[in-house]
Amino acid sequence: MHTTDKDCLFCKIVAGEIPSRKVFEDEHTYCFLDIGPVSEGHYLVIPKNHAVDLQSGSADDACYCLRSVHATAGAVMEALGATGYNLGLNHGVDAGQEVFHTHFHIMPRYAGQTRGFTKLSPADHELDIVQKKIQAKMEEKGLWN
Ligand code: 5GP
Ligand code: ZN
Repeated sequence: MHTTDKDCLFCKIVAGEIPSRKVFEDEHTYCFLDIGPVSEGHYLVIPKNHAVDLQSGSADDACYCLRSVHATAGAVMEALGATGYNLGLNHGVDAGQEVFHTHFHIMPRYAGQTRGFTKLSPADHELDIVQKKIQAKMEEKGLWN
């Protein structure tokens, strides 16, 4: 069993109480598309255990998240034709943290495109298409469950 907070948005996403566009999941982590991406395929990697931020969670959960970044980022780049990615974490209000359940941002990057951090506001159906491309690649690689 995982530690959860019944009022936490991301715990509700892990529990399936709030829908999300899944990228990957394993025993310890859940990965899903950010609803307000700054690049196509921007996704979040979170521990299934609730912790408001990286420092208050366990070292193991921090490691599990990085393992999932490692497991997924290459496949996501391949699925979308990205040529790089930024990895980010906003720790605390003064760093821009808005959701208080630990999450890493993976932001795929594309040759010749902006490296900025401005939200793109894609339509729901565009996010659905991105998710489908990623899911197909994960299935091909045996990373989908
Ligand atoms: P933070 O600023 O806390 O590092 O980032 C929180 C991120 O969560 C933002 O990029 C925001 O777009 C994303 N986000 C907020 N609410 C939801 C939601 O309900 N679903 C999804 N998929 N992402 C969300
Ligand atoms: Zn939570």
